[in-house]
Amino acid sequence: MNSPLKVLGLVLFGTILTPIIISIISYWGVDIDEKTYENNEKQIINYETVNKNSPEIVVYNHKTDKNENIDIEKYLYGVLAGEMPTNFDIEALKAQAIAARSYVLHKQENGPNNKHEKAVVCTDHTHCQEYKSYEELKEIKGEDWIKNDYEKIKKAVDETKGQVITYDDKVILPLYFSTSSGKTENSEEVFSGETPYLRSVESPYDDESPKYVSQLIINKDDFINKLKNSFDDIIISNVNNDVKILSRSEGGSVNQIKVGNKELKGRDIRSIFNLNSSNFDITMNENEIVFDVKGFGHGVGMSQWGANGMAKEGYLYYEILSHYYTGIKIKDLY
Ligand SMILES: [Zn+2]
Repeated sequence: MNSPLKVLGLVLFGTILTPIIISIISYWGVDIDEKTYENNEKQIINYETVNKNSPEIVVYNHKTDKNENIDIEKYLYGVLAGEMPTNFDIEALKAQAIAARSYVLHKQENGPNNKHEKAVVCTDHTHCQEYKSYEELKEIKGEDWIKNDYEKIKKAVDETKGQVITYDDKVILPLYFSTSSGKTENSEEVFSGETPYLRSVESPYDDESPKYVSQLIINKDDFINKLKNSFDDIIISNVNNDVKILSRSEGGSVNQIKVGNKELKGRDIRSIFNLNSSNFDITMNENEIVFDVKGFGHGVGMSQWGANGMAKEGYLYYEILSHYYTGIKIKDLY
């Protein structure tokens, strides 16, 4: 039985409360839109803003021989200090922060490492990434550095909190290196696998790097002796005619080189003569051989000096990352 009170209640709900509820919902909607608008930078790169706590990761510390649980964002402060010069542009540092974060989370997703099974990364830069704690940095670099440079690093990490680079919705392994020769390398021309996001791209802003070009001059006898130390069956009868670059990669590095009776890889020559990169030209002088070398590092992925050059030209961190890593998306995980 409908009581007059119930009918009155329904009428009241229909005529007064419904518009109020609708307007509250719309108001919430407006509020959310305003937030998105304010956070314009994130809207441009088109991903959702997620606000969760950052996860802890396990880091194997070579100095203490212990596994440490560290908040990933705090860990990144200690990585950035060692992996990129702190006088670089903030946008380059942000790009590096995202690359370093992606590196760790890629490792996390792809299972344990045989050198430190219980830790996702270690503190050795030749194996994982360079890392120093706040206390170590304070002791080594001093108060002034902490006040200025550490704050800058912290800003680069904080302002990109949770952001990672993905390809096909998976976190990538973002290789990077110091200085390009003007063009980066395809992954399969330097390492074994063909990776879709590690393609050769132009890198036009590396020329401020102190290692953009370098030279090694070596006596012809030393040249032959060093090669014989690595390949005892090598025969070089006439150096002037016996050294010939046969092929180069898309990025310009020496792929195959004929030395005497052998065909070697450009990277063999790089390693024997400790050259800055495999991108070199050879000139024969009377008694010497001159290597003119371009760039520094393996050449695959992001060039750090190139990133800094782009930042100085006004490019933002996500533009830098999208340039060096082909077909990627930046995602906010937390
Ligand atoms: Zn390691």
